[in-house]
Amino acid sequence: MQEERVKSVLEQYPSYEATVGIEVHVQLKTQSKIFCRCYNRFGDMPNSNVCPICTGQPGVLPMLNKRVIDYAIMLGLATNCFIRRRCDFARKHYMYPDLPKNYQITQSDKPICSDGYIPITTIDGKEKQIRLVRIHIEEDAGKNIHSATGWSFVDLNRAGTPLVEIVSYPDIANAHEAKEYLNHLHTIIRYLGISDANMDEGSFRADVNVSVKQKEAKELGTKIEVKNINSFKFIAQAIDYEIERQIQDIEAGKKISLETRLWDSKKHQTVFMRSKEEAQDYRYFTEPDLPAIEIDDEWLERVNACIPELPHDKFNRFVSDYGLSPYEADILISDQGISRFFEDVVCGCNHAKQASNWILRDLLGYLKEHKVELHQTKLTAQGVAELIIALEKGTINSKVAQEIFVEMIETGTGASAIITSRGLEQISSVDELEKIVRSIIEKNPDIVEKYRSGNERMMAFFVGQAMKETKGKGNPQIIQDLLKKCL
Ligand code: ZN
Ligand code: MN
Repeated sequence: MQEERVKSVLEQYPSYEATVGIEVHVQLKTQSKIFCRCYNRFGDMPNSNVCPICTGQPGVLPMLNKRVIDYAIMLGLATNCFIRRRCDFARKHYMYPDLPKNYQITQSDKPICSDGYIPITTIDGKEKQIRLVRIHIEEDAGKNIHSATGWSFVDLNRAGTPLVEIVSYPDIANAHEAKEYLNHLHTIIRYLGISDANMDEGSFRADVNVSVKQKEAKELGTKIEVKNINSFKFIAQAIDYEIERQIQDIEAGKKISLETRLWDSKKHQTVFMRSKEEAQDYRYFTEPDLPAIEIDDEWLERVNACIPELPHDKFNRFVSDYGLSPYEADILISDQGISRFFEDVVCGCNHAKQASNWILRDLLGYLKEHKVELHQTKLTAQGVAELIIALEKGTINSKVAQEIFVEMIETGTGASAIITSRGLEQISSVDELEKIVRSIIEKNPDIVEKYRSGNERMMAFFVGQAMKETKGKGNPQIIQDLLKKCL
């Protein structure tokens, strides 16, 4: 399987380079919210999961959910961060209808994790590290719902949902690297099981900062922020669009001004949202209602023990141990369930390349077409292993194998059982096949004539007839050889 070559919009502007930094907010999948006992759940009736704490009533006290710290440490360790042994919370003040306290509890100059990195692959296939400035913990705000009737509503179910904010250095050079970075971060989070990381439901939200400059310029260009883009594809498109827009403005002698823009996915362009010329003063100060968090060796060890094999390590192992191409390994590891299934199949048949082919082509094709997940099907790894062995031994031909594969997905029956019960063994008996071939030749004298007068394409007709006679079970190689002999 081959990957198409990725291009960057920068290829058209060789004297320029771009700098991209990304901030990601991830909702953590805890049972309850970060500072109260309310359910942390998406999709419930508006304002059904609220209490005096998460609605910001005066005089209430927040109580920290310890699981949030566990999850933040997990992510920090998985992204090579330094874990601060003593960190605290801070109030960040601003007024907005979905923030009834008028401040957000977050972390300021003492974030729980800092100075990590995530390895990615560049356009040229080289490994590159995207450094992380920090990962900090904070609470989510509620949600404003603006209706078509002109009324606006506030739903506070989301208020107090635990978040981690992951801030990268501006190490990302183009849209491809941004997509790589987000994909890797997303996969790590899914492997750790700390979030659904679902972009549609807002549990994984990315804001990108894009600036461009002439290659020889020393200082970075003015950065433009593009907010709330809800798919990796759109993020890549927004970055390409911004790079080109900013270069063209600079070429036209215009000044780039600090601003926030939004991606319009219908018009394929970013649109002005607000100016950021005046920096907001959030008046940070240490949260007085929460004690500092002390993380000792034992806590760190306990969390570290819960970290599974990470995607990057699994990728390297799949390439070196199974001889897969980086492209194949990359798709297999992108989903933990699929990668486990792959290894189970290999365990049962010892044919990694075939296992990878069946999964990448037939299984993923089926899942995509029927919009289902692997665990919703009845397919077993043992069944696929049996199929690969039967094919390898020549018990069945590849056309029959495809049918069996679909039947296995839908019924959960193993390949061996399907082959026996439906009598699908390939017919490889030369005597038996020769009888069939001869009778087809007898029945079609006109086509035999065409073939003999040089129309080689008629061979396909005879093979097709023979396969029909054998209900698809004939060994196609033997049939071809027999036809050549008898014609
Ligand atoms: Zn609450
Ligand atoms: Mn934030």
